[in-house]
Amino acid sequence: MNPASSTRSFHVEHSTMEHLDKCPLCASDNLQLTSPVTDHSISKEQFTLCICGACGYAFTNPRPLADRLPRYYESETYISHSNTSRSLRDKLYQIARRWALNNKSSTIAKYAHSASVLDIGCGTGDFIAKLRSKGHHVLGIEPNASARSYATDHHRLEVLPSLDAIESKEQFQVITMWHVLEHMPDPRSTLKRAFALLKHQGFLFIAVPIRNSWDAQHYGTTWAALDVPRHLSHFRDVDVRRILEDQGFSVVKVRKMWMDAFYIGMLSEQYKGRGPILSLLLGSLTGLWSNMKSVLNGRPTSSLLFIAQKDRG
Ligand SMILES: [Zn+2]
Repeated sequence: MNPASSTRSFHVEHSTMEHLDKCPLCASDNLQLTSPVTDHSISKEQFTLCICGACGYAFTNPRPLADRLPRYYESETYISHSNTSRSLRDKLYQIARRWALNNKSSTIAKYAHSASVLDIGCGTGDFIAKLRSKGHHVLGIEPNASARSYATDHHRLEVLPSLDAIESKEQFQVITMWHVLEHMPDPRSTLKRAFALLKHQGFLFIAVPIRNSWDAQHYGTTWAALDVPRHLSHFRDVDVRRILEDQGFSVVKVRKMWMDAFYIGMLSEQYKGRGPILSLLLGSLTGLWSNMKSVLNGRPTSSLLFIAQKDRG
C-alpha cells in the first residue's frame, strides 16, 4: 500500500514489458482484458489486468520485466519502505500501522512461541523487530536496498536481499508474507520455496488484498489495492486457497483484516480526485460498509490473512 506521489518522469517502452499469453496458474489461453488501470501513486502509467476465463485468476498483463520493476517502487514517499510521516493520511496510516504491528505479533503468538520466524518482504523491519522483542529468532528478506539498510542500521536486524541468499539447510517454524505475495512475479514458485523453508508442521501467514471484497467491486479500476504494476496478482479468496493447497499446504484459518478497508477506501477516494477531508470521510464510510457486508453476508474483507500449515497432522 503506498499513498505516494512522485515527480519522476516515466516513459512506457514496450521493449521493457513482458506479455503473458497464458494464465500462469492453469495455462489456459482464454484471457480477458479489463479496462485500463492507472498507477496513481508513482508512474501515472496505465496497465491492464487479464482475467483467466478458465480459472478466474487475475494478473497484471503486460507487466514490466523483472529488472524494470524496482523503478516502480522508487519514491521518497513509498511509505511501507520509507517510514516518513507527512500528511494527515500518512499519520493515520502510521497509527494504523502501530496497531497492525501489535495485532500481527499477537496473531503469531497464538501459533508459535519463541519460534524462528522468516518475514519475506520485511520492509524497514518493524514487525520482526517487534517479534524479536517477544523472544522470537528472526530473519528478514527485503529486496529494496534503502529499506534493508534501515532495518539493519536502525533495528540491528539480519536482513537478506532475496530468498536465494538463505542457506539451503536453514528452516523456520513460521514464515510471514504481509502484503507481499501479490508483488511476486511467480507466486507459485515463491510458495514452493516457502514450503521447503518451513519446518515440519510449521505455519505460513499470508495477507493479501482480495478483489472479490465489496470495496474492490465498489471502486472497480480505481480500487487502490490494485496498485499496478507493483501488484502482479489480484487474488480472490479462492485463488489463494487453491495455490496454497496446490503446493501442499493445509489452510487452517482465514482471518478477516478489518482495518485495510478504511485505508484502501481513503486512498481510492483520493484516486477518484477527492480532496483530503472528503477522502477521509467517504473512504471511512466505504470501509465501514465493506466490513458490514463481510459481517452480514460473509463476503471477504478488503484483505484476508491466510494461515496455512505444512504437514498438518
Ligand atoms: Zn487460469
